[in-house]
Amino acid sequence: MKQSILVVNCGSSSLKLALFDENEEKLVSAIAERLNEQEAFARINGDDRIVELPARANHKQALIALVSAFREHQFMPAAPTSIGHRVVHGGEAFREAVLINNDVMEIINDCAGLAPLHNPVNLAGIKATREQFPEIPQVAVFDTAYHQTLAPHAYLYALPESYYRDWSVRRYGFHGTSHFFMANETARLLGKALATTSIISAHLGNGCSITAIKNGSSVDTSMGLTPLEGLVMGTRSGDIDPGLFDYLSSRGMQLAEVHKELNQNSGLLGISGKTNDMRTLCELADQGHEPSALAIEIFSFRLAKYVGAMMASLNHLDALVFTGGIGENSSRVRQKTAGHLKLLGFDLDADKNEHNGRHSGGRIEDASSRFPILVISTNEELVIAREAARLAASF
Ligand code: AMP
Repeated sequence: MKQSILVVNCGSSSLKLALFDENEEKLVSAIAERLNEQEAFARINGDDRIVELPARANHKQALIALVSAFREHQFMPAAPTSIGHRVVHGGEAFREAVLINNDVMEIINDCAGLAPLHNPVNLAGIKATREQFPEIPQVAVFDTAYHQTLAPHAYLYALPESYYRDWSVRRYGFHGTSHFFMANETARLLGKALATTSIISAHLGNGCSITAIKNGSSVDTSMGLTPLEGLVMGTRSGDIDPGLFDYLSSRGMQLAEVHKELNQNSGLLGISGKTNDMRTLCELADQGHEPSALAIEIFSFRLAKYVGAMMASLNHLDALVFTGGIGENSSRVRQKTAGHLKLLGFDLDADKNEHNGRHSGGRIEDASSRFPILVISTNEELVIAREAARLAASF
């Protein structure tokens, strides 16, 4: 029987589906957005005419509508042979992907306190997919799992130890699927074994994180207990002085308000006062909008500082690797970041950055650079599909 793998990615207000064949070719992809809102809508292969969602469709309704449209339009003539789900938080329970059963679902539910916007919708997606395809093996692939190899000195905060023991307060890290893909791709491109490949992987999308990968394993990462820590992001502040909470409280702000500001109104959006979108920021900066130029500077400077910090975990470095919408497309951010890292021996070639950096696998370092610098297109869906196929084979 021919294999096909359905990848399900439930975000807080969106649902993405992708179907792969056994040769890792993507057969179809779909997205439903603005779920639970009046204007909920969906597209299949970019076309919004072949699927209709009820108003205020939730994740389950969106999944049912998309799966039936896949069937009706012959995108999915037979049921998939395996299904992979992106799950944001696996706590300390999952060091790798797992076949989903009732116990696994219970643990995902238990981790919901650590990812309240994500784990409940991930579970809703799993339940809805199980109802649609009760016989098909389903696999959970966790954003946190790849970082379970961090040692205590990297994952513990300098807090009273009971916080970790009683409340599970520690650094978990996220974007693990993407960083894992980066490690594998870099090893492949450099012709090395993963087990001897050490990189610094910068995933720069709307959410941003950077990971030190030593001999194929994650050893340090910038996101922490939640995806708010670390780099400057589209709307998230990344690192701030925890003393800010007390100070803002003295100014009359409530904790919930501060939380919202740090998550939704900070980062590139907060600094520029205009947008969280790096492409638009670059255009605005070119037109002389100073806050936008400053946002790019702060973003790149923080990133450079973290590249330096990640080197503390490594014995050798095979490459600094950029990915995500910004990492793959913004030659300006890469140039500015590398500009802060000359003392560490990173040196970009401006021309290669502009031209090679447009292609996945492109090398952009100058001949004088101590380390290779690469741009790679991430493919989290493919990692999830591979894990689902691998584990389903043991079902
Ligand atoms: P992602 O979340 O990975 O889709 O990344 C989204 C981010 O990538 C947004 O900030 C986009 O503005 C940014 N991005 C996409 N294309 C470009 C581009 N050509 N130049 C600069 N930033 C870009």
